[in-house]
Amino acid sequence: MQALTNKAKQVDRAAMSFMEKMYLPAIIKGMSITFSHIFKKKPTINYPEKTRPFSPVFRGMQILNRDAEGRENCTACGLCAVACPAEAITMEAAERQTGEENLYREEKYAAKYEINMLRCIFCGLCEEACPKDAIYLSETFTPADYQRKQFIYSKNDLLIPHPQENPEAYKKALGNRANKTTVN
Ligand code: SF4
Ligand code: SF4
Repeated sequence: MQALTNKAKQVDRAAMSFMEKMYLPAIIKGMSITFSHIFKKKPTINYPEKTRPFSPVFRGMQILNRDAEGRENCTACGLCAVACPAEAITMEAAERQTGEENLYREEKYAAKYEINMLRCIFCGLCEEACPKDAIYLSETFTPADYQRKQFIYSKNDLLIPHPQENPEAYKKALGNRANKTTVN
């Protein structure tokens, strides 16, 4: 029969020696490898009591941003949804009404904004496409769940806490971005 590759290896069918039949050398060799790891530094940590610091370029769960006055930045232009290679983002736009200037920064806003986290590949293209600094990938990962529908994140799940009503949570959600200049 013609071989498809040149990786075929002839099986050694020679009779086992006395030492090989005892299996002891192989067992001792295996145990010595096991014991040699006992004194090495353990790569595992006791999560969630301990957490590892993320890389500065870590891309986690999306956050919908507000400006310093707490108004939503998103103007529902749809550029993030167009840029998303996984088609994970859907939204519905609405017109800002008189009296809502303290809620939404632009004349148009996202009445509904959803991200399907089961589709998201955390590429960050939505953040790069956004002209309003309205979405960014945070230093938090998406929590595990048992039901698929729980991974459809709504606007309420994604919106950053209000900077004036809950400054501590706002600063925490900003993470490393707190040290960077915000583009408006
Ligand atoms: S991170 Fe990438 S895949 Fe996820 S929503 Fe943004 S553009 Fe889509
Ligand atoms: S998050 Fe940015 S890109 Fe996406 S709809 Fe809002 S303003 Fe447009």
